[in-house]
Amino acid sequence: MCDCLVALPSTTDGTRTLFAKNSDRPPTEPQDVVWHPPRRDHDRLRVTNIEIEPFAGETLGCVLSRPRWCWGAEHGVNEAGVAIGNEAIYTTLDPRAVPRALIGMDLVRLGLERSTSAAEAVGVITALLEGYGQGGSGHDPVIVGADKPYWSSFLIADAHDAWVVETSGTTWAAEQITTAAAISNRTTIAAFDAEHRHPRQPTERFVDARLAASRAVLAAEPVTVPGLMRHLRSHDSCAPGEDGWSVCMHVPGVEATTASMVAELVTDGRASRAWMLLGSPCQSIYVPTPIGEDFVAPRWERFAGLVEAADGEAMATLHQLESWLATECPSAADAWRLVDETLTRHGL
Ligand SMILES: [Zn+2]
Repeated sequence: MCDCLVALPSTTDGTRTLFAKNSDRPPTEPQDVVWHPPRRDHDRLRVTNIEIEPFAGETLGCVLSRPRWCWGAEHGVNEAGVAIGNEAIYTTLDPRAVPRALIGMDLVRLGLERSTSAAEAVGVITALLEGYGQGGSGHDPVIVGADKPYWSSFLIADAHDAWVVETSGTTWAAEQITTAAAISNRTTIAAFDAEHRHPRQPTERFVDARLAASRAVLAAEPVTVPGLMRHLRSHDSCAPGEDGWSVCMHVPGVEATTASMVAELVTDGRASRAWMLLGSPCQSIYVPTPIGEDFVAPRWERFAGLVEAADGEAMATLHQLESWLATECPSAADAWRLVDETLTRHGL
C-alpha cells in the first residue's frame, strides 16, 4: 500500500511543486535513506531481478528511500528536481503468472537516475517497461514468506509539471496533471481504470478512504509542507471497521508505513529539498535533506524502534529538533548527524 500526492505551483505558494509519499510495506522491512551520487556504468547493470543495458552517460545523483533487499527505491528526488513515488496496483492481469523482470521500485530509481524532467521520466519508465517487462516480487520473499508481485502506478513531478503513469504488465497509460493529484492503490486514469481494474479488488475497504483524504488535503489550497506532513501522520482515513488502514498505516503483521517523504521541487538556482522520514510518520521526524549533498542517515531500525523504545521526553526532544531543522536548514550531513546524536543521547 502507499499514498502519493503532488501539488503544482499554482496550488502551493506559486514558487514550488510539493510532492509527498507514505511508503506502506511489511512492518519489519528495513528501508535506507541514501544519497547515490552520479555514476557511470560501463557494464550491464544488475537491478533487482535482471541485467539491463547501462545508461549512455552519467546518471543523476538522487536521494532515495530504498528497501534494503532490492536495487530499487520506494521514492526519491534527483539533483534535477524530479521526484517519483510508486504504488502497488492490481488489474485483471495476474502478476503471479509473469516471469521476473523489472519491478516498480527499479523503475522509480531508473527514472530518477536517467531523467532531467518529469516528462522525460515518463518516457524513460515506459520505454524500460516495454523493453524489459515488469515482473517479480515487490516484497522481500524472506520477510513475507512468499513472492508477492504487483503492478505499479507512479506519480512523477518536477518544479513545473507532473504525471500519473499506471501499468498492467507492459501496458501503460499516462495522464498529465494540471493542478494537483493524488494516487493510491488503485487505477485512477478513467479509460485505464475501466479497462484494467480488477473487479474484485476491495478498494472501498482499503484504498478509497485514503485517496479521498489525500484529495481533500490538495483541495484545501494553498498546499503547504506542514499540511502534507500532518496528512501523512493522520489516522482518520479508514473505512468503517478497517482500523489501521489509514494514511499513516498500522496493520500489525501485515502492513505499516515504514518511510515517508515530502519534497520541495524548485529550479531557480536553488537545490530542491526532501524531508525524509524513516519509521512511522506519527512516531518519527522529517529530516530536511538538500538534494546534491552527501550524508549518512542512521539505520531504519533505530527509527522503527521509537514506537516501543522512545519515552515522552525523547519524542519531545526529537520533535523540537524537527522544528529547529525546519527553520535553520543545516546541510544534509549536519541534519542527519544531529538526529543520530539525539537518538544516541536517549539510548535509541
Ligand atoms: Zn501513525
